[in-house]
Amino acid sequence: MKTFQTIKELRAALKVNRLKDKTIALVPTMGNLHDGHMQLVRRAAKEADIVVTSIFVNPMQFSENEDLERYPKTLKEDQALLESNGCHYLFAPDALEMYPDGKRSQTQIEVSAISDILCGASRPGHFVGVATVVTKFFNIVQPDCAIFGAKDFQQLMVIKNMTRDLSSNITIIDEDIARAEDGLALSSRNGYLTEEERNVAPILYNTLLWAKNELQLGQKDLQEISEQAQKNLEQAGFKRDYFEIRSQVTLQTPEEDEAELVILAAAYLGKARLIDNIQINLTN
Ligand code: AMP
Repeated sequence: MKTFQTIKELRAALKVNRLKDKTIALVPTMGNLHDGHMQLVRRAAKEADIVVTSIFVNPMQFSENEDLERYPKTLKEDQALLESNGCHYLFAPDALEMYPDGKRSQTQIEVSAISDILCGASRPGHFVGVATVVTKFFNIVQPDCAIFGAKDFQQLMVIKNMTRDLSSNITIIDEDIARAEDGLALSSRNGYLTEEERNVAPILYNTLLWAKNELQLGQKDLQEISEQAQKNLEQAGFKRDYFEIRSQVTLQTPEEDEAELVILAAAYLGKARLIDNIQINLTN
């Protein structure tokens, strides 16, 4: 596997492959890689001849009081994992390479309707940062497809809507959520948890499962389910952010009798903000 820090060098390497008619898959990440990321890389290797993974902790998607500075950086370990999972090129630029004129003067991509709700309400500007950096990666790599995890369900929808709205030719592929044995969704931010908090953390997933069960039992009052879930989480030691049952298609409050739903949760536990979700189809 080759690692590139500059757009110019990566483009040159990709050009050679494109001339040989090789297809290219892109896996955008922020590094500190775990098996959830590797699942995406292995999928990418099945979908295309050449796998490009990016590692970039994108300052544009962090607001002032967030964890940009302390976000874990483990490049050596990440390189070894990527190499053994079939990645060909790692693109690991610094902020100056991505935003030579600073992030303030950067052209921004805003995906309408779904960027200001849920995680976008708690993290203003977050999805503008995500959509902008992913657009830049798409333009730099020009992949045939890009792989994203369903763990960041709203992010996945932002990217899908963006590619549709901008008539992009890139196929967006999603991968299921990789979990630890106790159900906790794998995340780089799990590293912020103390041992005690790590034991409490799977309650987030268990609460999603409880809400799913309530829906399957025919409970129609979505507010009631969400409020009870929030109380359960608070009792377990989480601080609330949101717990919402939404339409899988629009991410808005579902229509009455809408069957394809997604239950999304975000909650703070110690220094970590954890997110998770479960999709549910009530016709099954
Ligand atoms: P991140 O490095 O957290 O920005 O994540 C990079 C990509 O990996 C995104 O598409 C995430 O949705 C995906 N990802 C992160 N954690 C998981 C997980 N537990 N299961 C599946 N995909 C994941």
